[in-house]
Amino acid sequence: MSFSDRVEKLESEGAYIVMARANQLTAKGKDIIHLEIGQPDFPTYPHIAKAGMDAISEGFTRYTSPAGMPDLREVIAKDAGERRGMKIDPSEVVVGPGGKPGLLFPTLALVEPGSVDEVIYPDPGFPTYVAMVDIAGGVHKPVPLSEEKDFSFNLEEFNQLVSDRTRLVVINTPANPTGGIMPISDLEKIAEAAQKHDFWVMSDEIYSRLTYDGLTAPSIATLPGMKERTIIVDGFSKTYSMTGWRLGYSIMPEPLAERISLLYTHSIGCTAAFTQIAGIEAITGPQDMVDDVVKEYQQRRDVMVEGLNNIPGVTCRIPQGAFYAFPNVSSFKIPSQELALRILDESGVALLSGTDFGPHGEGYLRLCYANSIDKIKLALVRLKGFFGKLY
Ligand code: PLP
Repeated sequence: MSFSDRVEKLESEGAYIVMARANQLTAKGKDIIHLEIGQPDFPTYPHIAKAGMDAISEGFTRYTSPAGMPDLREVIAKDAGERRGMKIDPSEVVVGPGGKPGLLFPTLALVEPGSVDEVIYPDPGFPTYVAMVDIAGGVHKPVPLSEEKDFSFNLEEFNQLVSDRTRLVVINTPANPTGGIMPISDLEKIAEAAQKHDFWVMSDEIYSRLTYDGLTAPSIATLPGMKERTIIVDGFSKTYSMTGWRLGYSIMPEPLAERISLLYTHSIGCTAAFTQIAGIEAITGPQDMVDDVVKEYQQRRDVMVEGLNNIPGVTCRIPQGAFYAFPNVSSFKIPSQELALRILDESGVALLSGTDFGPHGEGYLRLCYANSIDKIKLALVRLKGFFGKLY
């Protein structure tokens, strides 16, 4: 069977592959600790779930406008604008089933297939970035991250990659898989290049609420001249433990939002109405549980990072956001993919190879610490045993 180039090259996400393998082991009676998939372990907050269930009972089960219900677009514009210190109009907000469509569809709208349109994206980075460039038919330009800069862009390499052929630059802050936050000074350099070479920036801010130690992740869209060339991607999955509800949004200049709305019309149609009602409750309802969960993640991060750094041969920087630790295990001189599989099979800890996020992830592993402290401690004991045998 033959397929178009745009789907021929697609690959699954490492997290789904490892989860399937881990579940097979569980079915055989093995006790597996799941640190592979990136989703909150907390249930959706009860008042949000109730709003969604009530909405079904009240008949919110029909089509809505493709770009989202006006009430939801309005509360998103207000909330997202206030949090970033910028003015956002509801017409600039496009609601979709998760953050992912907010990545793919703007790429489709901006990148001319088979042209010289180049897309720069972080490596290691979220696997959808590679896939969306394939689907859109653009030219891949991965930019390596610098561990010593808490995994922000290696700006020397970025400057070499950027040119008048650059159509889109993807940034992700706080980042998956590294937990790094891009400093404002790096964002300013990217913004300068964007104006010089006239490219768009896609700023994936899906983890914007999950930051630690009192830090916040600045948005490049707030820099002078950047709002008109930035697509902010955010959503409900991580902030409100709503991964399965499928609700996210992107913010962009109105003319682009109109095009995306047409792509939605002819693909997804619209986002589930009751999910959108739950989204309104998420934003307008109490926020203290989000703050509590962030405190809890910070404690788990501290346990995880300290434990990893106590394993001889492993070093781990302190992630400033999201819920991932990205330890350097290059001293063992074993390919990360092989290490990840062996750790799962021999120690029952499901985690990901850094290479699941691009070739520059070699020498690293990704562990999601959205799990209980007891499980994290047990995983650390197992990892210490595993690496102890190698050391
Ligand atoms: N962007 C990044 C960096 C992510 O890690 C994820 C999910 O893991 C997404 C976007 C997509 O989120 P959603 O589940 O809302 O589609």
